[in-house]
Amino acid sequence: MKLHGSKELKVARGGAISMIFQEPMASFAPAITIGAQMVEQLLIHTNYNKAKAKKYSIEMLDRVGISDADKRFDQFAFELSGGMRQRAMIAMALSTKPKLLIADEPTTALDVTIQLQVIDLMKDLVKEFGMGILFITHDLGVIAQTADNIAVMYLGKLIEKGSVRDVLRNPSHPYTQGLIDALPRLDNLDVPLKAIEGDIPSPLERPSGCVFHTRCPADLGDVCHNQIPQFSAVNAAHETACHLLTKEAAS
Ligand code: SF4
Repeated sequence: MKLHGSKELKVARGGAISMIFQEPMASFAPAITIGAQMVEQLLIHTNYNKAKAKKYSIEMLDRVGISDADKRFDQFAFELSGGMRQRAMIAMALSTKPKLLIADEPTTALDVTIQLQVIDLMKDLVKEFGMGILFITHDLGVIAQTADNIAVMYLGKLIEKGSVRDVLRNPSHPYTQGLIDALPRLDNLDVPLKAIEGDIPSPLERPSGCVFHTRCPADLGDVCHNQIPQFSAVNAAHETACHLLTKEAAS
């Protein structure tokens, strides 16, 4: 979608595209009630009048599982628990029926049981509202639970993409392999945690060639240090940007 000018951007932001953030406490304005913020958004993005916007906002709060929705409507973000705030954020994001919901670490600040509830809720609502969802997360468990496709990034660069099943079961980029190896194992508590060696370089001093070469256990030397790897197909639904693949294909 190509947008021209601030008017079209305003219609898209919060209308066609909505976003929920990691810490809803920082996303709601602290001195304005949850309800007033929901109504304001609806007045901008729909043709609802104030009364209809209020009624619909309360319905949405109820729809995401917030009890006493009419009471919560008049409360401030600090008066709600973390899980409830995140639900209110989801209600607000979905109230304009967006085509795309961008969810940036939406469950990271929540405890594990609430995380599961929020993920289930989002999956249900995605189906009901027929929208796409872009999850930004470090949590591979959340990805496995929610996504169809995955794109792995390192230092702002896409390095592997494909179906969740392909990428998580058969990771072919050394960084993705490192991420999966670093997951704690609940089936064998004696296995030591395996970290990816080294530190993430500053984005202002990005390594030349492959951005992962300063930490890569499979570093091939000159080619990795000087040439940016291009995507190659692992299979029809899975691609990786790594010189190992081109080397394998050439041998
Ligand atoms: S391109 Fe080279 S340095 Fe980068 S991930 Fe592949 S093997 Fe490692």
